[in-house]
Amino acid sequence: MASQTKNQDNSLVKESNNTKVIAKNKASSISSKKNVTQEDIRMNDEEDDDDDDDDDDDNDDDDESDYVEQWIDTFLGKKSHEYFCDIDTDYITDRFNLINLHKFVSCRFSTVIQYIIDELGESTLERMSTKELELLEADANKLYGLIHARYVITIKGLEKMYTKYKDADFGRCPRVFCNYQPLLPIGLHDQPDMDYVKLYCPSCEDLYTPKSSRHSTIDGAFFGTSFPGMFLQQYPQLVPKHPIDNYVPKIFGFELHKHAQLARWQELQRLKHISHLENDLNINVTDDRCYGGYKLQKYKPVKYYENGNSNNNDGNKRR
Ligand SMILES: [Zn+2]
Repeated sequence: MASQTKNQDNSLVKESNNTKVIAKNKASSISSKKNVTQEDIRMNDEEDDDDDDDDDDDNDDDDESDYVEQWIDTFLGKKSHEYFCDIDTDYITDRFNLINLHKFVSCRFSTVIQYIIDELGESTLERMSTKELELLEADANKLYGLIHARYVITIKGLEKMYTKYKDADFGRCPRVFCNYQPLLPIGLHDQPDMDYVKLYCPSCEDLYTPKSSRHSTIDGAFFGTSFPGMFLQQYPQLVPKHPIDNYVPKIFGFELHKHAQLARWQELQRLKHISHLENDLNINVTDDRCYGGYKLQKYKPVKYYENGNSNNNDGNKRR
């Protein structure tokens, strides 16, 4: 009833006070709302609008507080948690998805689940000591990670990770010939506390340590050993062509690697030859005697003629 009379009064003075109302800012309207004067009533020809604004503000506040209270949002908002996607509450509350995870938490399992989905009563939290709360928080982090490893290989989880992969949220391959190929997170173990997360490149099929130290300390079990394989099976169009180019070390244009390989092969062949002479033919290659006009010496390339009646006097010089 009061608002109706206000509206009637307001409609009379609407035109004259319009400019003043526009000038009024939101903050002053909120403060004046608590102690409404006649002047305010006359001037404020859009009281309802302001009320709406106030309601909106209230709603915003509610939204903000809700946002802060959501544990999962807080978890995902942390600086080192960019690799994680949000897990549906339905998935977290489905007992089937949580089989065998209770052994990884020290707090009561149902309490940790309730804490994650924000269903743990405030009174329960207030009763807890700081240490207990810290323990609960650590358990919640761990449990969320372990559920996450299961969730990301479901259809919904793969879809969410697909978006992150497209945005290269996991980084790109540092290998030059992979042409900035986006990476996928992977764990080397499915058990927690074994190793940190690694990044898998579908192009060169190799693993890398995350560049950032804050990511390189995330438990690999929070992504699991099967995620990249499952992901690429679900999205085969994302499997890149393997790079043909390969780096070959060179010095002044000579292929260092091949040269070294050839040198090793030559050395091996020489040693085999010496072994053959000494063992099979019973010839001592360290002996200074000449064989077929050629002098055999150890660790020097040899040229051996089995039937050597050579008259070549230069034979001794030839090694
Ligand atoms: Zn690569």
